[in-house]
Amino acid sequence: MSIFFKKHHRHVLLEKPFPEEWDAIIAADLPYERMLEDAERKHLRDLARIIIDEKHWEGCGGLEIDDRVKVVIAVQAAVLLLNWEMDIFHNVRTFLIYPGAYHQSQERQGGDGLVNSGTVNLGEAWYNGPVIFSWKDALESAHNPGRANNVVFHEMAHTIDMLTGQTNGTPPLRDRNHYPLWHEVMTRNFQEIRKVYESGQRDVIRDYGVVNVAEFFAVCTETFFDAPVPFKKHRPELYAEFERFYGQDPAARFAKQGR
Ligand SMILES: [Zn+2]
Repeated sequence: MSIFFKKHHRHVLLEKPFPEEWDAIIAADLPYERMLEDAERKHLRDLARIIIDEKHWEGCGGLEIDDRVKVVIAVQAAVLLLNWEMDIFHNVRTFLIYPGAYHQSQERQGGDGLVNSGTVNLGEAWYNGPVIFSWKDALESAHNPGRANNVVFHEMAHTIDMLTGQTNGTPPLRDRNHYPLWHEVMTRNFQEIRKVYESGQRDVIRDYGVVNVAEFFAVCTETFFDAPVPFKKHRPELYAEFERFYGQDPAARFAKQGR
């Protein structure tokens, strides 16, 4: 699709009123949305509609794709883009949705794919391939903000990381001058957090985040959006890097709710 046609198509799509049934789904299933400012809530809906419209949605393992599945996943994915001008997950064409945690059908290790640990998965993101979710876990993530646990934030973060063509924990930063500080802070915190777990202690970034640098970016993103208050309190310097990258301050959002 040409850029012009895509822009025109999006414009026509967003001219139509937001479906009332979708508002009802947001009210019932997405408490995160209520924490946003009015302008953000409107923008979130626009982004979610484009994601729903432009991506291919496929149910697997007997799951039927309905509006609820699409709205719950697209709205959470859209949170990451609220203040980020990069085109809307243009490297993602297809969402595959399973009813629950699913077993990997094959060994999937390679230079261009990501492997989540274990044989039972809640989600996966593939370089230039589909993003795969467990519907049960995507819905649980939607219902329970604040646990630093959100499979949609996690997998969509991997796709953002992959925008550079490499899955190395460094997404395309909006400001070239940001790279040296980003690398310095990310590397130092990754090493510190590894030591924390090696010494048997815990960190605000859960241990899966220090499996490798790609998981570090995904788990930090998840924590940044889903449990930002403890993240900011315990690792302010790392939090600041994500604040600069995503252009959002979720801790302020949560603090207003007294969370
Ligand atoms: Zn991951």
